[in-house]
Amino acid sequence: MKFQAIKGVRDILPPESALWTRVEQTAHKVFGTFGFGEIRLPIFEPTNLFVRAVGGETDIVSKEMYTMPDQETAHIYGLQHSLVEWKIKSGDLQTAEAFQQLTVSLLVFIMQAQQENLIELEEVGLDAVNDLTTAAKELHDLISNRSDSAEALIWNQVAELVERIRLASGTLIVGDDLSLRPEATASVCRAYIEHGMQTLPGNVKLYYMGPMFRRERPQKGRYRQFYQIGAEVLGTSDAPGIDAEVIEMLMSFFERLKLKGAVLNINSIGDKNCRPAYVEKLRAELQKVRELLGADSQRRIETNPLRVLDSKLENEQGIIEKLPRIAEHLCADCRAHYDEVKRQLGLRGIAYQENWRLVRGLDYYMRTTFEITAPGLGSQNAVCGGGRYDGLVELLGGPAATKGIGFAIGTDRLVLSLQEAGEGETQGGPAGKAGGPDVYLAWFGAAAQSAAIGLARRLRDAGFVVELPAVEMKFGKSLGLADRLKALHAVIVGDNELAAGVFTVKRLSDGTQQKLAEAELFSYLRAARTA
Ligand code: ATP
Ligand code: MG
Repeated sequence: MKFQAIKGVRDILPPESALWTRVEQTAHKVFGTFGFGEIRLPIFEPTNLFVRAVGGETDIVSKEMYTMPDQETAHIYGLQHSLVEWKIKSGDLQTAEAFQQLTVSLLVFIMQAQQENLIELEEVGLDAVNDLTTAAKELHDLISNRSDSAEALIWNQVAELVERIRLASGTLIVGDDLSLRPEATASVCRAYIEHGMQTLPGNVKLYYMGPMFRRERPQKGRYRQFYQIGAEVLGTSDAPGIDAEVIEMLMSFFERLKLKGAVLNINSIGDKNCRPAYVEKLRAELQKVRELLGADSQRRIETNPLRVLDSKLENEQGIIEKLPRIAEHLCADCRAHYDEVKRQLGLRGIAYQENWRLVRGLDYYMRTTFEITAPGLGSQNAVCGGGRYDGLVELLGGPAATKGIGFAIGTDRLVLSLQEAGEGETQGGPAGKAGGPDVYLAWFGAAAQSAAIGLARRLRDAGFVVELPAVEMKFGKSLGLADRLKALHAVIVGDNELAAGVFTVKRLSDGTQQKLAEAELFSYLRAARTA
């Protein structure tokens, strides 16, 4: 059997991994200078955290999350899944009856789990359970009261009820479902609340880095396990200066990495005072052109009209350009906030483009939103998305006055863009060193092995990258390996060297060779390193 990585996930190997390390270390350094501290978060959380924070109607939550049952509710999850997947042939009332009985079992299990406090249903969950209960009862009555002559007649009704049960069973999330995190802002807010961080002085400034998981169609720059580096500012202030400083930090980070051609797009998407009216207006306008839109956009007219603005479909572009713009519908507070963010970006000398179509695919954003694109990435050219999310902490049960803003950088895409621009590590294995090891330590004979082990330790302590053969090799073969590993120097230890108290050092680029005592060897290697 041959194993392969799962579709959409990948290994990051040397020398690319050295670039990843450099990117991450730069983030630690730059974010640290802005007073941010690192938070390390769990990879999985209760599913409901993401349903609440990111939004149940978003693509991320409705179809991209990796969700699994927790042990205690696995039987419920299994039944739900069976109901959703069960095939019933047209007219097969016997199977429909078994399906109905399974639905009853599901409801009994849910009731028990509730009584044992294993689960606590949210409002949507309760709706689904009620729907399941009525549909199961109707289905039961329909099947048990039928007469032989009526079988064909009731099938349509049966099929409809079966479909209703499937739907309700699919939307039901029992309390302890777990999901691999599709993003980390929800977790940061959860942690903020859980640890009572609102009592800390000043704004709470946190950053994180690590893998996220979304079941998307894999392609260049889009993976199912991908990585983000993100930061969040939480506290009672929503001063535009915070927005501007967060963006400044981001741009400094990109600059430090020598990322070229990064473009900052900004927008304000209003708040709960002005956005609903705009969304309704947008929805009304979209209804008028419904027939001209693709299936995705048509669906979004109901679920999330703002997302239509995000469409990349060629034939929708002309239509979208004529839609009403949020900038013309901002309330006075949002307008003032946005103007001040722009002024503060100006104070910091940060160039930006205003992009009225910039909306984000997560429900929690409000007011300032931004995105950064970079070259070399094809159509997946966003390396960072972010924005303000003032109501989120409250939505998750935290203090009402809490404001928040943050961003998430797609590390995979950042790395890709750096590589495309020739800023990537192209050589080197350990610790991202250019070229191969500083020293290939060739030893010949048992006494030399022991001397070589000691020398290797002292060289490594001094920071040199040392390759020490684990077994004795013939001279030619050993030096041949040194060449293939692209070592800068071969240091040779044999009986002659031991007797004379020296080491033979050979520069492999030109073959020059000399005998040096240990102290001289160290100076020689140091000089070679800085040359
Ligand atoms: P996209 O336009 O790429 O779908 P998004 O709106 O889903 O982005 P966010 O959820 O805001 O993105 O995530 C922030 C950043 O994370 C993105 O700008 C992108 O760089 C990166 N990202 C998102 N999804 C993926 C993925 N599947 N693979 C790699 N990087 C991703
Ligand atoms: Mg996406």
